[in-house]
Amino acid sequence: MLADKDRIFTNVYGFQPWNLDAAVMRGDWDNTRALLQLGPDTIIDRIKASGLRGRGGAGFPTGTKWSFMPKAPKPDRPNFLVINADESEPGSCKDREIIRHDPHKLIEGALIAGFAMRARAAYIYIRGEYIREAETLFAAIAEAYAKGLLGRNACGSGYDFDVFAHRGAGAYICGEETAMLESLEGKKGQPRLKPPFPAGAGLYGCPTTVNNVESIAVVPTILRRSPEWFASFGNENNKGTKLFQISGHVNRPCVVEEAMSIPFRELIEKHCGGIRGGWDNLLCVIPGGSSVPLVKAEHIIDAPMDFDGLKAVGSGLGTAAVIVMDKSTDVVRAISRLSYFYKHESCGQCTPCREGTGWMWRVMERLRTGDADLSEIDTLQQVTKQVEGHTICALGDAAAWPIQGLIKNFRPELERRINEKRGDSSLSLQEAAE
Ligand code: SF4
Repeated sequence: MLADKDRIFTNVYGFQPWNLDAAVMRGDWDNTRALLQLGPDTIIDRIKASGLRGRGGAGFPTGTKWSFMPKAPKPDRPNFLVINADESEPGSCKDREIIRHDPHKLIEGALIAGFAMRARAAYIYIRGEYIREAETLFAAIAEAYAKGLLGRNACGSGYDFDVFAHRGAGAYICGEETAMLESLEGKKGQPRLKPPFPAGAGLYGCPTTVNNVESIAVVPTILRRSPEWFASFGNENNKGTKLFQISGHVNRPCVVEEAMSIPFRELIEKHCGGIRGGWDNLLCVIPGGSSVPLVKAEHIIDAPMDFDGLKAVGSGLGTAAVIVMDKSTDVVRAISRLSYFYKHESCGQCTPCREGTGWMWRVMERLRTGDADLSEIDTLQQVTKQVEGHTICALGDAAAWPIQGLIKNFRPELERRINEKRGDSSLSLQEAAE
């Protein structure tokens, strides 16, 4: 278990105030000027050496992403950092804990990351429903300006840097990086075709990097404690500590910082008091937020909770939003509900997503009640394959994967419902075909 001395987020439960004085007591803003004096290239090299991978879901190496930004921005095309705080993935609730209880970690991280990528300013795009969190964030930014930590000559470093917070209006799709840029520009939040990628043409057509809140908030501590310290946690290629958000049928749902690669069983036993009704009662787990495929109990119990470990069991770490389902769960209904979510949140730009998400949800609803034909299970699987990878953004994949996970792991349950509705509880698809 991660020792308390190795926790980055020491106020994640809000036992102490969030404000600047308390943050300074926790070690934030401690000689930030000296960190900036390392210079942009050294900071990027150290973040690369730490092995930090993006905490928003994709897991792209953070230092490498920063290195794509122009090293000599033109005066009329400044570099920008955009921080994604539009935390809307069902199951995810870590960024809100950082913002409402430890906002100065994020703001200091924004300055350092922005400096490293030679950005003129950072925009923090915060989910519209996070009203109290936005109030805290605005107040924390104002504190930082008042103390000279941001703005002209930030922290006495000679570098001018602004941080702006921008509230979203409640669309899940604005968490997609290019939709976020559109929304920041005051347009309808619809994803852009890539290329060009944001590092070439992002916010207002200028070079931009979009990072998750957690990815930025850990940067100051990594630089203070050393990249080697951060890289001492987790398996190869999956380094560092991570905020896990565990919800569903555990005895004590929680958000907790742990070392990457901790086995699932240990994570649940140590921090959540075990599975409701005991381990034999575990049905399945969605380990990374609603857009990753579910994993059956027997496959996840010993799996390392990291990018590669969960990929190996056919799923993904995503945002580490772990949704635990015990045997009381109607798993078909649960996945159908997620299908409705993606149908509702589709921005409608591309046909496979606009039409496919609604079509998949309607079939899922009929599978839920058993009012379907056995052959429709295969048809649904084929349609998910036609949506996956054929859309502008990853929402199409996010809508397809939970259904693929359901069919792969719970096909007999789908068939049972159809057969029962027909009054024949013994037929499988193969038998019915014969
Ligand atoms: Fe919009 Fe869906 Fe296409 Fe993404 S995949 S751009 S959400 S229609």
